[in-house]
Amino acid sequence: SVKWGLIGASTIARQFMINAIRAQEGGEIAAVMSSNPERATAYARENGIPSAVSTLDALLKSDIDAVYISTTNELHLDQALAAIKAGKHVLCEKPLALTSADARKMVAAARAAGIVLGTNHHLRNAGAHRAMREAIASGRIGKPIAARVFHSVYLPETLQGWRITKPEAGGGVVLDITVHDADTLRFVLGDDPVEVSAFTQSAGMAGGGLEDGAMCIWRFKSGLIAQSHEGFTTKFAGTGFEVHGSEGSLIASDVMTQKPDGSVLLRTAKGEEQLSFDREDLYVRSVRQLHAAILGKGQPAATGEDGVWSLTAAEAALQSASSGKAVKIDPKL
Ligand code: NDP
Repeated sequence: SVKWGLIGASTIARQFMINAIRAQEGGEIAAVMSSNPERATAYARENGIPSAVSTLDALLKSDIDAVYISTTNELHLDQALAAIKAGKHVLCEKPLALTSADARKMVAAARAAGIVLGTNHHLRNAGAHRAMREAIASGRIGKPIAARVFHSVYLPETLQGWRITKPEAGGGVVLDITVHDADTLRFVLGDDPVEVSAFTQSAGMAGGGLEDGAMCIWRFKSGLIAQSHEGFTTKFAGTGFEVHGSEGSLIASDVMTQKPDGSVLLRTAKGEEQLSFDREDLYVRSVRQLHAAILGKGQPAATGEDGVWSLTAAEAALQSASSGKAVKIDPKL
């Protein structure tokens, strides 16, 4: 069995991850930590978690094998380093930290300690994205030339908190959503970005100088160029992911989401074909891969290194937006 401790009494844990852990054979949640003792107790009661604690020390001293970190972003670094030091495997939310340099520290510490560190980039676990990756790898669109990612959504009112008010907590749409787009592009294309040029905006929702919309243009190693649009303020936009190649195009709709939804169309000289793909819960698959990695039978769906990559890419996008220049992407791994 794998016994988990939750660091952070968060929305994402309540909505997806508690279920994803319990869906595994031997997956158990032993304790939850919140900075506020009352919140910890209430959260534990509401979610049937046996132990509630309000310090990291107490959590790390409990009988657990792994931690899931879903606090606000400025806390991930110290919490992950402490967990690694205590010999606990770590599944950490994105962005891994506020800077790529800090994320590299987490990766180095996990490597040195022989600890599994995964990044919860859920979209790699979506059947739609895996089907696209396979179609591209098996040559069905020929040579990939360009990609377009549509990931501008409307931030639900219940989440209109630190993401749009607190720069010091790693708010803003780039650290929230651009990291996912950078990771999903890398995964689907099997390619790495080398340079980005970005514009950001504050379209009326975010304060504190934070951006609530971004458009990025990426250049990849192979020469492919991509564009991505991230936002908190577009209620009616819908999401999508397209890859256009020399022999065909993949056009996916409604796939930049937390649910196993959407469709993937392959269009070639032969006509159009809807690709079929599995509809497993994205987070259940993410935890399954993490468990396998703990048992020495594979890798997390997204590794710590992948988390360094996505944060380096997002950081470069922010630098580009503030400088008005294209910025090179080097994860220094
Ligand atoms: P929440 O705002 O729900 O939770 C973050 C922290 O805020 C909690 O740890 C908690 O602190 C505090 N908090 C939560 N609710 C309350 C409340 N009602 N009153 C006071 N404090 C509260 O964040 P999310 O769940 O949206 O995001 C958490 C992390 O997960 C982030 O890193 C985010 O980027 C990531 N995320 C990833 C997703 C994915 O699909 N991969 C999706 C959504 C988020 P405490 O624990 O101390 O009580």
